[in-house]
Amino acid sequence: MLSIGVPRETTPGETRVALVPQAVAPLLKAGLSVQVQAGAGVLSGATDEAYVAAGATIVDARAAFGSDVVLKVREPRWNEDAAVHEADLLRDGAVLIALLGGRTPQSLERLAAHRVTAFALEALPRITRAQSMDVMSSMSTVAGYRAVLLAAEKLPRFFPLLMTAAGTIPPARVFVIGAGVAGLQAIATARRLGAVVEAFDVRPAVREEVQSLGATFIAADVADAAHAGAGGYAKELNSSDEQRERDRLTKHVQSADVVITTAVVPGKRAPLLITTAMVQGMRPGSVIVDMAAESGGNCELTRAGTEVQAHGVTIVGPVNLAAGLAVHASQMFARNVSTLVLHLTKNGALALDFDDEITRTTCVLRDGRAAGAPAPTNGPAANGPTVAGAAAAPSATGATGSTGGPALGPGDPASGEALRR
Ligand code: NAD
Repeated sequence: MLSIGVPRETTPGETRVALVPQAVAPLLKAGLSVQVQAGAGVLSGATDEAYVAAGATIVDARAAFGSDVVLKVREPRWNEDAAVHEADLLRDGAVLIALLGGRTPQSLERLAAHRVTAFALEALPRITRAQSMDVMSSMSTVAGYRAVLLAAEKLPRFFPLLMTAAGTIPPARVFVIGAGVAGLQAIATARRLGAVVEAFDVRPAVREEVQSLGATFIAADVADAAHAGAGGYAKELNSSDEQRERDRLTKHVQSADVVITTAVVPGKRAPLLITTAMVQGMRPGSVIVDMAAESGGNCELTRAGTEVQAHGVTIVGPVNLAAGLAVHASQMFARNVSTLVLHLTKNGALALDFDDEITRTTCVLRDGRAAGAPAPTNGPAANGPTVAGAAAAPSATGATGSTGGPALGPGDPASGEALRR
């Protein structure tokens, strides 16, 4: 029987777990067995007892990593407790499914040494059929919600309109830049808290969605052809269009109490939309939450993973926002990833169909070789070509709206990891 392993995440600050007890039953029903490392779900509110009640077995790290298919949130890393690299705990020929945004040629070589077949969740195609597996959209939903709560926490003002005996307090003004999955959730959350919301995106197609959430849509002052990218994504703007965009945004940024920025273009540095001069013109006490921090930031003053005070404005560059809502982030992750597992299996066994777009696009290593590489031949070349070509991915955290497509690697100057070094 094909075993599914769920190790405990060891990346600092990672609270999510790849599979929650509620997602165990469909896997068992499909003829698979589930082994969960003791304590794996504890930070996500999932006890070992709940996994057992759902039909899973509780095991140690070695057994969880030694399963046929290993489900992880983050890439395998050096495990302090076991004093071993987690990739070396994988069995030969194992399947690994995880957010592999931090992958490097070195980390892939390590997986390749065990002939691992690896699926990177960031690389799922944006097609209707893959929506129920789309971890990045789920994590963007969580992150958009959390970004607004973070802003509300930092803002020295109320969000809603209040009429009290002590006077009338006007609602906060929130400006959301980038109305993708994260931005739309940020709009909805800010509206629920009672703020007056404006939103901007280079893609005019989002106007109706923005308006249906009760926000005002600010359209781009850029020719249509400039923003249409492939697969529903925006395209990188040229420098003169980017300058025109900043000119367009200035008035709205400076009249806002809170600016939430989510603008990213997969594989590129995030567009620089808020300059220091624009921040200088904001009211003291205003807050910017830059959700593009890990891709270089939409604000010139953003520092990923930290909070900056400048010109009376608080600029937050959060990383891994989704980990701050571990229960629901894990529940959504688990639902998505278990749907992908069911897609990759049939009658209790692996059934990898590389003619299928979801399987092909998401696979970054196939039997230890860069996916898409020619089949090995006998003799010295049998180890296959280098895996370096498979080492490119967007944000490792799944915290922002960054998704598949051409991608940032950690060595890329636009990647958060490179910026934090
Ligand atoms: P994203 O995270 O790649 O980008 C976030 C937003 O930033 C996007 O709306 C983008 O247009 C915007 N942006 C980029 N450059 C900008 C700039 N210079 N100024 C202002 N805004 C800028 O996007 P996303 O949240 O992943 O979603 C993009 C689209 O894909 C959405 O329409 C979404 O509904 C769609 N989508 C489809 C599927 C699917 O069919 N399976 C899954 C997820 C998302």
